[in-house]
Amino acid sequence: MLVGPSGAGKSTWAAAHFRAAEVVSSDALRAVVGSGEHDLDASGDAFSLLDQVVAARLGRRLTVVVDTLGLDHARRADYLERGRSNGMPCVAVLFETPGAVCRERNSGRDRPVPSRVLGQQLAAMDSARSALASEGWDEVVTVTVEDQERDRAGAGTR
Ligand code: ATP
Ligand code: MG
Repeated sequence: MLVGPSGAGKSTWAAAHFRAAEVVSSDALRAVVGSGEHDLDASGDAFSLLDQVVAARLGRRLTVVVDTLGLDHARRADYLERGRSNGMPCVAVLFETPGAVCRERNSGRDRPVPSRVLGQQLAAMDSARSALASEGWDEVVTVTVEDQERDRAGAGTR
């Protein structure tokens, strides 16, 4: 379960550490069922597909990386419960990318998230950070900007 605001580097990190088929992304599914990754009207359909993919993979005890913001406690609890009931280890990956870095990356993107929305996500990140410790994850892994830079440097030399 990835947890972090927009621009934190979740999708980039997931692509560096997992096979494409292991990652299920709400943005990618919005593009599948809607007009593009940012088609918010397609969110309902995208999340119901995401739930199906997660359930199907967990049912086969296959690794699944949930690439969403991960900032909603109820959603996290639901995925954790599904993982648990299938006997899978459940790991939360918390992206400790400073707000200023998220904002800078966000402003360089084709379709930046509005500043106010990013501010809400950054605030939600503060509550997620404190909630994660008591949610019952087998492990909470922290990814820093330094970790992301190491990935990038490693990818360049591979
Ligand atoms: P969202 O929640 O909006 O999907 P995200 O957390 O998945 O965001 P990414 O798409 O991985 O974030 O990265 C956001 C932007 O930051 C991208 O333009 C990406 O190229 C850039 N970025 C990601 N990782 C790094 C890095 N290590 N160094 C510099 N730029 C990076
Ligand atoms: Mg992403």
